[in-house]
Amino acid sequence: MIHRERVADDVYTFQSDVYAQVNAGAVIGQDWAVVIDTLAFPEESLAIREFIEDELQRKVRYVINTHYHADHSWGNCFFPGAYVLSHALCREYLKKIGTASLQTALEMDSVFQKTQIVLPHLTLDTGSLELIVGDKTLRFIELPGHSPDGIGVYIVEDEVLFAGDVWMPIPHIVDGDPEVMRESLRKIQTMTLENVVQGHGEVILRGEVISSIKDRISYLDKIEKIIQDAALDEFPGEFLLENDIEKCGKSRILLGGAAEEIHQQNLQHLYHKIHGEEPKGYDS
Ligand SMILES: [Zn+2]
Repeated sequence: MIHRERVADDVYTFQSDVYAQVNAGAVIGQDWAVVIDTLAFPEESLAIREFIEDELQRKVRYVINTHYHADHSWGNCFFPGAYVLSHALCREYLKKIGTASLQTALEMDSVFQKTQIVLPHLTLDTGSLELIVGDKTLRFIELPGHSPDGIGVYIVEDEVLFAGDVWMPIPHIVDGDPEVMRESLRKIQTMTLENVVQGHGEVILRGEVISSIKDRISYLDKIEKIIQDAALDEFPGEFLLENDIEKCGKSRILLGGAAEEIHQQNLQHLYHKIHGEEPKGYDS
């Protein structure tokens, strides 16, 4: 149900099979471990915990949320006794938005019956913070753009970055901002990287880092151009639908088939943001 991969000594990723290939991670110290994001569904979070606590015999002492979205933070409650760490804004959003959206999710799906929003105990705002786990240094880096509260976790000794959702196979900007995302991606580009664990999708290897960043920035450029052109079209809504993900040079099978939906959400969001209204002219 979750796919586990080892990206460096004592560093693992866990990928969901059921929801948009979302990733979580773990760094295993001599005595205790840190979990980076939790995946969304209870069985998934519990499978991560089982692996670390039963198989590897380490207690999870910290859980880091790269941002407040459900598929990264709703499993906090399945690591009882662990301290949760995030950006200060993540705590604020989980409190304001997370609790309400869990309520809505519960009405539709009983799978979340045991889920509870656990607010971060430790928060980071500006400045720097490092967490030392065994012989590894986890350095926190502000990476907004997908959401304002985005942070990445850089494992200094392994040169591995858990980037959170600022880096995905298809950028998702409905809760963020394209220009802020570009800035974060450019910031990442200056780092020395062996591997990047994207918020969703495959692990990016050293040789792919530059081209992958270029590809994400180019996608952002393309959707902004589409929005400009849509404004000149008689039926902007239809125009957006026609400019599908494949016209932006990406496959619709990405992210477990969620690619086109994410792409259309991006277009709708940007159009609304720039023109202050929904795009008119949908046929159906
Ligand atoms: Zn997200």
